[in-house]
Amino acid sequence: MQTNPKTIGFHPCGRQGCDKKAETRTMIKGRNHYLYSVCPACKVDQSTGAILQTYLWNHTEWLDGEPEVSPPNLIEAAAKIEAETSETEIDLFDPEALETEPEAVQAAKVPLLAKVLLGGLALGLTVMGVSGAMSNMKAVK
Ligand SMILES: [Zn+2]
Repeated sequence: MQTNPKTIGFHPCGRQGCDKKAETRTMIKGRNHYLYSVCPACKVDQSTGAILQTYLWNHTEWLDGEPEVSPPNLIEAAAKIEAETSETEIDLFDPEALETEPEAVQAAKVPLLAKVLLGGLALGLTVMGVSGAMSNMKAVK
């Protein structure tokens, strides 16, 4: 991790109800750019968690405009509540989804095939019926 000690903005710390004004700085981890917080009371918080990154991104008053590269894991405002709970749910639901999916696909294929066969049969009968009816009409004339 590469940290940049330059302060690029300020945000209300907010940690544990802390009301101090904290500095926003940038750090690079791998290819990703993240923000981190430096509070005079709470010290440094370099969590790359989406909650903190989104908080810093939304609550920092930038000294020189917002950074060109935003953290990769910002939570969209509308998806925020879902995202906070989805991580644990995905772990619980994934194995079940993997087990049931092949069965569901097979079950879906059989009726589809039956429908196609029945549809073709019905179409054939309809054509025969129509032509039969037409030949009957001709016979009547
Ligand atoms: Zn603080």
